[in-house]
Amino acid sequence: MSKEFVHHGHTVRVVFAAGARARLAEETERLDLRRLLVVSTPGHADQARDIAAPLGNRVVDLHAHATMHVPVATAAKAVAHARDLDVDGCVAIGGGSAIGLAKAVAKETGLPILAVPTTYAGSEMTPIWGLTDAGRKTTGRDPKVLPATVIYDPELTVTLPVGLSVTSGINALAHAAEALYAPDLSPVIALMAEESVKVLATALPQVVGDPTDIDARSDALYGAWLAGACLGSTTMSLHHKLCHVLGGAFDLPHSPTHAAVLPHVLAFNLQAAPTALEILRRALGVEDPAVHIHTITADLGAARSLRELGLPAEGIDQVIQQTLATPCTNPRDINADGIRRVMQASYDGRPPSHNPL
Ligand code: NAD
Repeated sequence: MSKEFVHHGHTVRVVFAAGARARLAEETERLDLRRLLVVSTPGHADQARDIAAPLGNRVVDLHAHATMHVPVATAAKAVAHARDLDVDGCVAIGGGSAIGLAKAVAKETGLPILAVPTTYAGSEMTPIWGLTDAGRKTTGRDPKVLPATVIYDPELTVTLPVGLSVTSGINALAHAAEALYAPDLSPVIALMAEESVKVLATALPQVVGDPTDIDARSDALYGAWLAGACLGSTTMSLHHKLCHVLGGAFDLPHSPTHAAVLPHVLAFNLQAAPTALEILRRALGVEDPAVHIHTITADLGAARSLRELGLPAEGIDQVIQQTLATPCTNPRDINADGIRRVMQASYDGRPPSHNPL
């Protein structure tokens, strides 16, 4: 069959190596940045300060106020702070929350971002911003928020607690899996997604076995890089939509939510996405990717149910309502019944069952 596709790649300079944080000063120099705002979460402020120390007086301030899901008030304060200090760029050090706050600044000011990711969330490779206001998380795309440079240093992920390492890795795996049935999947993204799933599925158990294993940490971060690039180049479907609704409305923790929902969305979607199913089977070496991801998530110690993560049972109706209010692309038609089945299974944390088309 002749090929037909549109490929929308993004240009980001990526520096990947154990110890790569030592190149931070050189990379800011390359971007000609002199007045930097370093952005982190409060809990990661000390590490961010240490990592940014070689930048000396190029750092104008450390803004350690990032929180998950980027509340609009937090974003507004960071934008005002960046403007008051007249900075010429942001260095985001941390996971998706720190990078998300730097993106909120870039969206309003156009300031460039240099990202130093320390989780597997993958935000650093996407032009996607997210903001939460009054219980609703909105996402959008803007080339201004795509980092100019990303420094991946697996040594910085050694401190990421094992539980978060697993769920963050599954968050990355979700980017790759949903890219495989996105309407704008290209052959290059399919290759990257397959490699990402393969590498993550191998590396995560090794990280659990020895969180200080730099080779395993390097593989997991490499898989996360690929996954982030897949997410950045494709349209998100039902899985990401549900996780955004759950994060915005109930402030559920981002990556554990992804880990609890992914097997059930895949069980729902993969029958309608034969190419994605075939690639996931090959990458994971199993017949049933949905059941396999559910099993490894539990075996690696992550919470399996949204109930355990704090979703109230009556929240399922709200999720259905919000999901249907702003439709998303999906390989299988979405209606209230289908979302309820996926949500109930994710809430209960039971093994995924395949709902016939
Ligand atoms: P996070 O950034 O909130 O980090 C989770 C916790 O781990 C935080 O307390 C943080 O301080 C801590 N932490 C981070 N790295 C650490 C390390 N190496 N060692 C010890 N502690 C560490 O969580 P996340 O899952 O990376 O990001 C979630 C946020 O990212 C959500 O708001 C989500 O919407 C967003 N996100 C956005 C995109 C995008 O493309 N826009 C993609 C993925 C995630």
